[in-house]
Amino acid sequence: MSILIKNVILENQKKDILIEENKIKKIDDQINDSADEVIDVKREKAILPGFVNAHTHVAMTLLRGYADDLPLNEWLFDKIFPAEAKINNEDVYWGTKLALIEMIKSGTTFINEMYLFRGLEGSARAIEEMGIRAILGICVDDFNFDQVKKFELPLNTDLIDYCIAPHAIYTASEETLRWAKDFSDKNNLLIHMHLSETQKEVSDSIEKYGKRPVNYLADMGFLNDKCVFAHSVWLNNEELEILKENGCSLIYNPCSNMKLASGVFRFDDIRKKGINICLGTDGAASNNNLDMFDEMKIGSLLQKVNNIDPESAKAEDILKVATENGGKALGKKTGKIEEGYLADLILIDLKQTYFNPCYNFISSIVYASKGDCVSDVICNGKIIMRDRKIKGEEEVYEKVKEISKKFN
Ligand SMILES: [Zn+2]
Repeated sequence: MSILIKNVILENQKKDILIEENKIKKIDDQINDSADEVIDVKREKAILPGFVNAHTHVAMTLLRGYADDLPLNEWLFDKIFPAEAKINNEDVYWGTKLALIEMIKSGTTFINEMYLFRGLEGSARAIEEMGIRAILGICVDDFNFDQVKKFELPLNTDLIDYCIAPHAIYTASEETLRWAKDFSDKNNLLIHMHLSETQKEVSDSIEKYGKRPVNYLADMGFLNDKCVFAHSVWLNNEELEILKENGCSLIYNPCSNMKLASGVFRFDDIRKKGINICLGTDGAASNNNLDMFDEMKIGSLLQKVNNIDPESAKAEDILKVATENGGKALGKKTGKIEEGYLADLILIDLKQTYFNPCYNFISSIVYASKGDCVSDVICNGKIIMRDRKIKGEEEVYEKVKEISKKFN
């Protein structure tokens, strides 16, 4: 299968892009090769790499707006965990489909997902059907540890790679964490975990283990370049140094951190240290949408106001964090438009008001646009959204409406 995109705007220049199988084969001023499908966008569309949403719990769309305006501890233990107890594998399947419709419509092509272990099959099925790329976390905590230990690791597919996802140090004991690290080593898997999201997590760690979360993990031998940590809000300089030395990646989740009033990610300090920063929406119960355009804009603005520095988290930096850096953390050649990279691409409709006028395209993307400027989405060399239409949308909305009744 090959796709030729003609007359598309790439970094302010008109280009032709040839996709063969699942990769970008050729980028040139003019390509005359034959292709199975030719899309001539007549300079009315620009092309960007698809976004990498590096931390999310997609089926939490089922609980969108279920519990708002609460601190993390109350939100999680009193509201979310009891509601999630009612969610089965089939619910996860439909919740994931709903989330992926929203994500694809706002230009995301790759997700780093962790959700209920009992819904793993439902997640995988929905991801395959929707055609998006994913690292699918096998979520482990002290409650499901015995089940997860007996579980056989599924095989990776063209779209899905599995990883191990211990929830956090306050839900996974040292024994569980050591097992997860060992499982990662044996199977060469990424580790995806929440880290130092709130001040309470840090003070509880000091009380329980006599050390801060990063020191606790470092002393356990847990840290290496397979680790991708979400939130990572409350880190001191020594902890940043340790994370840098171990090659860990950190995920900035601005909307969730703001909504749960968790704190502010030290974006500039972490960036200057040379630690890889990615961007994620977290779940729809703490955001409450999955639009990476919102995440980029709010993520950038939060840094500017927090540092009283308009040069903090510039548009081009935050766009890189939302694309290339995610690919790097998750070990895939995606997030960049270059020959040989995976064909995970989005087309941007330049006729939208956001781009009129357009003095600087990246600035228009980060500060002016919404996800609805994405017209078409290609993932792994396949068109998964054409002219904003995705197959089977209506059925998904109906099913989710039905499922949501059980939480009332
Ligand atoms: Zn999370």
